[in-house]
Amino acid sequence: MAVGEFDLIAKYFARPVRRAVLGGGDDCALLQPTRGMQWAVSTDALVEGRHFLSTVPPDALGHKSLAVNLSDLAACGAKPVAFTLSLTLPRVDEAFLAGFAEGLYALADAHDIELVGGDTTAGPLNIGITVMGEVPPGQALRRGGAKPGDELWVSGRLGDARLALEAFRGQVSLRGEAFEDVRRAMERPQPRVALGLALRGIASAAIDLSDGLVGDLGHVLRASAVGATLRLADIPHGVHVAACSEAQRRTCLLAGGDDYELLFAAPASAHARVRDAGARAGVPVACIGTLDAEPGLRVVDTHGAPVALTERAFDHFISG
Ligand code: ADP
Ligand code: MG
Repeated sequence: MAVGEFDLIAKYFARPVRRAVLGGGDDCALLQPTRGMQWAVSTDALVEGRHFLSTVPPDALGHKSLAVNLSDLAACGAKPVAFTLSLTLPRVDEAFLAGFAEGLYALADAHDIELVGGDTTAGPLNIGITVMGEVPPGQALRRGGAKPGDELWVSGRLGDARLALEAFRGQVSLRGEAFEDVRRAMERPQPRVALGLALRGIASAAIDLSDGLVGDLGHVLRASAVGATLRLADIPHGVHVAACSEAQRRTCLLAGGDDYELLFAAPASAHARVRDAGARAGVPVACIGTLDAEPGLRVVDTHGAPVALTERAFDHFISG
């Protein structure tokens, strides 16, 4: 018997909700906001061949689809509550759906966020997720708000996901454990939700890194009407990025994309509080520069000497 749209939903995406008033199965889900809180809402779509390779295991794809959305809540300092899932599938592939749902729900459970509805249709593989989170009024971390003199920080380490992409494309040769390491970074990013929450009231501005450090920092600089001096040598990276040629390393660190780390600013006087927030969230944080009154981005080497900047942000319509 042919498996239809509603059978698929019932089998893979119809778990009972715990917090929502009403989950999937009706025309709308119903959510009860916590008194006094604001909703933080964000949407990200993932398209095969553009946001993920056809080689990605289904459970990793389920994980990543939700992870990139949770990363946006993290960047706002919002606590995840609920999400919807819009799935376009080329065919009914139950092995794919079972794996996808497993990866998706594992991350959802880890962050206590529940699926409350969605849409399922046929077409080229496309995954759209909308996440909803809560934040106390006035406490959301925004891109604007950084001030001259603030320090610039980043969580985790950068460049591994880009290095994995280069390896998949055959541009660099990485084998065995090294390849698995960077592949994990690309396919299973860990959204920094706990860090975003810990930075409420401390960070003056924040963004999550999805399109590369230079491009995403540019969004913060424009929104905050400030400039920045970035210390190239202080950008945290792993051993595999360290082993690259200088040109490749710069590409991975400055124009990487897919890092899903938090880039944020905080007053210099809050330096110890930022370190403490990182420790509480269990995420390493590194101070990589300062914000200046002078507009524009300056990159300097270990000696403070300027480094010419050629890297640009990834853009779906320009970078191709
Ligand atoms: P409608 O036609 O009224 O928009 P649909 O037929 O699209 O409703 O969906 C039926 C129900 O199944 C809705 O409650 C919807 O939220 C839910 N649903 C559909 N697709 C998904 C999915 N991929 N994940 C979770 N719930 C889904
Ligand atoms: Mg519908």
